[in-house]
This record gives sequence, C-alpha cells and structure tokens, in this order.
Amino acid sequence: MKTIVVANWKMNPPTFREARKLFEATKKTAEKCPKISLIIAPPAIYLHALASNYRGKKISFATQNAHAEANGAFTGETSIAQARDVGAEYVLVGHSERRAMGETNEATGKKVSAVLAQKMTPILCVGETKRESSGEYLDIVGEQLRTALADVAPAKISKVIIAYEPVWAIGGETTMSPRDMHSMAIFIRKTIVGIYGDIGHSVKILYGASVGEKNVLEMLREGNVRGFIVGHVSTDPERFATLLKVIQNET
Ligand code: PEP
Repeated sequence: MKTIVVANWKMNPPTFREARKLFEATKKTAEKCPKISLIIAPPAIYLHALASNYRGKKISFATQNAHAEANGAFTGETSIAQARDVGAEYVLVGHSERRAMGETNEATGKKVSAVLAQKMTPILCVGETKRESSGEYLDIVGEQLRTALADVAPAKISKVIIAYEPVWAIGGETTMSPRDMHSMAIFIRKTIVGIYGDIGHSVKILYGASVGEKNVLEMLREGNVRGFIVGHVSTDPERFATLLKVIQNET
C-alpha cells in the first residue's frame, strides 16, 4: 500500500517563478519514490499552470479550498468544477485555517457532498484547537465528522479521506505522540463505522501537523495512519525531499 503524502503549500511561495521551481524539485524527488502517492495542493492561482504543464502520472493535484455552489455571484471564490477543470482531483475541505476564517461544520458538509458529486476526492480535515483532559476534543472531532458526512451515501463513504490535524500542533516541529494518534484513528474509525457499518473500515485516515523528516517514520509505524498532510516542510525542497526519501526507504 502506498503512503499518501499531501503537500499543502498554503499561501506559498510568493511568486509563480518560485512555485515552478519548488514543483520541479518536488517532482524530481517524487519520481524516485514509487511507494508514495503524492498530492500537491498549491495556491489556486498556480494550479492551472502547474497541472497543465505536468506530463507525468506520479503527482496529483488538490485545491486547498473550493466553494460548494456550482457557479454564481461569489466574488473571490473558486468552484469545485473549476478546480477540476484545471487539473485538481482532490479538494481539501475544512482545513483549520479555513475554519478559523468562519467555515462551519455545516459548510464542510455541503462541500464534501459537492466534491463527491463532481467525482473528485474530498480530504476532510478535522481536529480540535486545544486538548483538555476532560476529553472534550473527542466530542468536537465526532461532531465535525458527523456533520460533514451527514449527506454522504454509504456507497460513497470509501471515497472520502479523513485528515486529522490537531490544530494546536500545526506549524511547529513537534507532532502529537504517535500513540495519541493511534487512539484518535481508532476513534475516527469507530465513529465512521458507527454510521456506515463495515464499509467505514475502508476510509483512509491521514495525520497532519508538524510532520517532518525526523518524526514521520515513528508516526507512520505507530500512528495507525495511511499518510500525511505536510504544511511548512513541503515548501522547503530539501527537507521535503529528505522526508519523502525516509518514507520511501523505510517502508
Ligand atoms: C497543515 O496546516 O495542513 C499542516 C500540516 O501544517 P504544518 O505541517 O506546517 O504543521
């Protein structure tokens, strides 16, 4: 089974010229990593040019966000069909940085359904902003999952990828412990199987937050995950190359 790696470039790099350079460097490394399925999520404004100039099969593209409506008066937004038309196969839904800008659980539900309707793959991001000993974070993640998946038919659930991203660990150098991720993966799976039955076991679960070349292996071995979302390290070509090679060589 290939390890899935999603490179979330966020609002980086600052110029298209640099984006092209970063893409070329990443492409070179990716071609040497047959055990990895790499999905790059560049800023939407770079997506078309990067995807249309890419002739390989190794890399797939995601958009970091898209609007649930098919078209209309939504200034500044991009539709899911527009993203697909220029080369995206995946859509990040409900990233914590979008949620921080006001995206609700209900909005993520509409987007997940709309992405599936376009025959694309939603990568639904869930995760609590802080972790308290009371265990409230489980209610938060459970609610994020149930609301986002409310309109997903059982026949489609295996097409949804869940990315668990503990918001409190994003952007640093330390992941949460693989043991805690293991428990969270069980909780996520239980929640989905509770709604859908056995088919829920087929849903892929990723981990995201401060994944780097030093901690990726431990998380892959002990975290009970199929892959990763990588943020800041994915825009550093040398570190990202090391990270991909660690996965490639050790799995
Ligand atoms: C993210 O925000 O999706 C992410 C994984 O970020 P970072 O790797 O920078 O923590």
